[in-house]
Amino acid sequence: MKFNKEDYIKIAQKIFNFDSPSGYTKGIVQEIQSLLKSYGYASTITNKGTLKVFIKGKNSSKKIAIASHVDTLGMMVRSIKDNGSLSLTKIGSPSTPTLDGEYVRVVTREGKIYEGTILSTSSSVHVYEDAEKLPRDVDHLEVRLDEKVNNAQDVVNLGIQNGDYVFINPKFEYTKSEFIKSRFIDDKGCVCILLTFLKNLEMHPLKYDTTFYFTVYEEIGHGASSLDPMDEFLVLDMGCVGKDLKGNEYAVSICAKDSSGPYDYDFTTQIINLAKEKHINYVVDIFPYYSSDIRTARDAGLDFKGALIGPGVHASHGMERTHIEAIMNTYQLLCAYILED
Ligand SMILES: [Zn+2]
Repeated sequence: MKFNKEDYIKIAQKIFNFDSPSGYTKGIVQEIQSLLKSYGYASTITNKGTLKVFIKGKNSSKKIAIASHVDTLGMMVRSIKDNGSLSLTKIGSPSTPTLDGEYVRVVTREGKIYEGTILSTSSSVHVYEDAEKLPRDVDHLEVRLDEKVNNAQDVVNLGIQNGDYVFINPKFEYTKSEFIKSRFIDDKGCVCILLTFLKNLEMHPLKYDTTFYFTVYEEIGHGASSLDPMDEFLVLDMGCVGKDLKGNEYAVSICAKDSSGPYDYDFTTQIINLAKEKHINYVVDIFPYYSSDIRTARDAGLDFKGALIGPGVHASHGMERTHIEAIMNTYQLLCAYILED
């Protein structure tokens, strides 16, 4: 099935610009549900917030599951400081040095939104001797609100309290050279692959009965913890790029092993052979510091064969980038696996 680049970019512009840190995914899940409805699919949302779509295949002897996660990294207000700035706590594991200088939006439980900027607690080189050297970890970053606040009470008066979400601007851009540069390509890059696939599926038959999942809470380790029984589970999530790895921004990465151990040997070999057969630009890698929805589903006690593929993402959990070619190669490998020839 041909990759429709225009559809992909259009969907990506919408999905990437939708704030969805782990625990605050209701809005994006509803948005995806209405997109799916416009493509002609009925979907359900579980108590936890996972979205699922079932499509009957030609053959019901095997149950296939496909997933990508809609939740992203984020920040939350830890406390309000005496000087009227906000101290932070991390949601997932963003690369905190890359957050120094980022524009954010703070949303209160009443739905009010305030703008601000994440800055080092030694923010000015004219004032602080350690402005250059201070670590950019979460304890040395704070939010400067774009409001006239001079003390903690001023901030409380705005309705801001501990536990409010802080959205990081994703800065999504699709360049002339066809790079996608944005935060949270992990895993919105793959969410948009699934949506583009479903939009264009129409009459193409699937080999087996297949459930598509858009999971939540993956970044904090319990995304795929409550899926239905399945025989094979293919996760679409980012591929690692850097150091001695073969992964790059143009190929689809196939993960042989991550921090939790090796993925299913036979299923992974089948995916590698499909990539070879279809002349897809692919690499096989181990992901040294990585975990995925495969691990979560396995830890939850489900009995299945698991494999993982995804576009190579540079500078993951920081200012990420990939190329449309990696997206296309991931899409084609997904098609090779689930579509009837
Ligand atoms: Zn991910």
